[in-house]
Amino acid sequence: KSGFVSIVGRPNVGKSTLLNRILGEKIVAVSDKPQTTRTVIRGIVSDEASQIVFVDTPGIHAAKSRMNRAMVDAAYGAISGIDLLLLVVDATAPRDDAFVREVATKAGAPVFLVLNKVDLVEPKERLLALIASVSRLHPFAEVVPISAQTGGNVERLVEVIRGRL
Ligand code: GDP
Ligand code: MG
Repeated sequence: KSGFVSIVGRPNVGKSTLLNRILGEKIVAVSDKPQTTRTVIRGIVSDEASQIVFVDTPGIHAAKSRMNRAMVDAAYGAISGIDLLLLVVDATAPRDDAFVREVATKAGAPVFLVLNKVDLVEPKERLLALIASVSRLHPFAEVVPISAQTGGNVERLVEVIRGRL
């Protein structure tokens, strides 16, 4: 089993933190400033049975400068020719339904909606309500709540990804 998995989403939602967590080492620049990740970066997770190539991307945002436009193009480029898309959203940020629908619709592969930063979401009922409402936006293959920072549910996410490849 092997496959390409892209990680996309708005700037600052935690894409690079997630990839670092998955890879178990700090190879991708993480910061609290948007656009820390300026290029597409790959990381490979292998075990006896599978090899998953992860593609981290610059955040997708309204591009004003030419350089920003190139970054957004790189992120959208990572949506094509892949086996699975991880669309990461920040569970603590305002909802951005039009964006989620647009990216999910453009993807030519199954989409996992990854709700990140759930360590900051209290109480649990709020998280359950959020999961229920984002699930209605698109026929996602999975909706997975995680905390890239604490590692919560990240191993399970990788297991579910493996199961899909
Ligand atoms: P990217 O722009 O999507 O790659 O986002 P980064 O991975 O650079 O993270 C942006 C900011 O969010 C950093 O300050 C991270 O430490 C923080 N962050 C990422 N994941 C989590 C999480 O699960 N919980 C919390 N509380 N903060 C997070
Ligand atoms: Mg990044």
